[in-house]
Amino acid sequence: MKRVADLVREEIRALSGYHVPPAEGLVKLDAMENPYRLPPELARELAERLSEVAINRYPPADPVALKARLRESFAIPAGLDIVLGNGSDEILQIVAMALAKPGATALSLEPSFAMYRISAIAAGLAYAGVSLRPDFTLDEGATLAAIERHRPALTWISYPNNPTGNLFPREAILRIVEAAPGLVVVDEAYHPFAGGASLLDEVAKRSNLVLVRTVSKLGLAGLRVGFAVAPRDWAAEFEKLRLPYNVNVLSAAAAELVLSRAGVLARQTEAIVADRARLEAALDKLPGVTRFASATNFVLARVPDAPRAFEGLKARGILVRTLHGTHSHLSNCLRFTVGTPDENARLAAALAEILA
Ligand code: PMP
Repeated sequence: MKRVADLVREEIRALSGYHVPPAEGLVKLDAMENPYRLPPELARELAERLSEVAINRYPPADPVALKARLRESFAIPAGLDIVLGNGSDEILQIVAMALAKPGATALSLEPSFAMYRISAIAAGLAYAGVSLRPDFTLDEGATLAAIERHRPALTWISYPNNPTGNLFPREAILRIVEAAPGLVVVDEAYHPFAGGASLLDEVAKRSNLVLVRTVSKLGLAGLRVGFAVAPRDWAAEFEKLRLPYNVNVLSAAAAELVLSRAGVLARQTEAIVADRARLEAALDKLPGVTRFASATNFVLARVPDAPRAFEGLKARGILVRTLHGTHSHLSNCLRFTVGTPDENARLAAALAEILA
């Protein structure tokens, strides 16, 4: 008898997969999505554009039109290459595969995005986590010491950080890049909400820095388009591991069209940032809630009893993310994606009821 337990690597069997609960019928504030649909006119134009796409053909081997659109929309300098992913999740996987070799370690700050650890272990890298301070600030000394100890082939930094929402100091990240013997990947998934904070201007100056960006949080999460911004030599290696045709023709056409109408997603993003401030103010009025600063489209808060608040919100038709039990610093923490003004008001009112 061929047993899974004998055939699948121990580390993979020990993983818990990336879990996404069903959200049918609930106000969905769990996954950092933009809550707004496209304006109806643009949605109709998109339907027409998609009807012209030749879905009998494979995508172009090198989707130059999509890459040119991303280059313009995200102001990527000419000297850097773009490597496309089926969402930035796939970029994390490609990078981990490229850096995996016997004895190599990937390092990430904790708590941070769960896929760093999963991608590293799946690719066969050893994994080391360095704790942030309890207030989620970067412990630069501990991080540099961990880099010295583990000599990581790969270091992930989420900037701003998910699930904590904060930005680490830029200069500290650059010191980590200097000290790291391997590649440092700075994941800027939440860049649209971070007031312009970015290390994009540093990539060309360094030999071991790659950025990750995505269209997901901008409002196109369903398309699954993310990308790496990398110096030529790194991009050439990642390209070898990118599956042929990893971004499908419909997603490419949709991203090209919507991103060409710069104002549409920018207005939605601005509204989300303004509503974040209102949600923060509403949370600050609630008894027993500690709210953390956010440079993203979500807000992290500690409540007196997170499992109870999570269930109470769900019973009131609102799905959020509970992080209780995922890291010692996150005890009783909930993460709220910024929704529409109405959704945010419902969330605040429901929480007020639960905490009363
Ligand atoms: N990086 C970070 C920090 C994230 O929070 C997420 C999504 N939760 C991703 C990457 C993946 O985004 P996507 O695959 O949709 O581009």
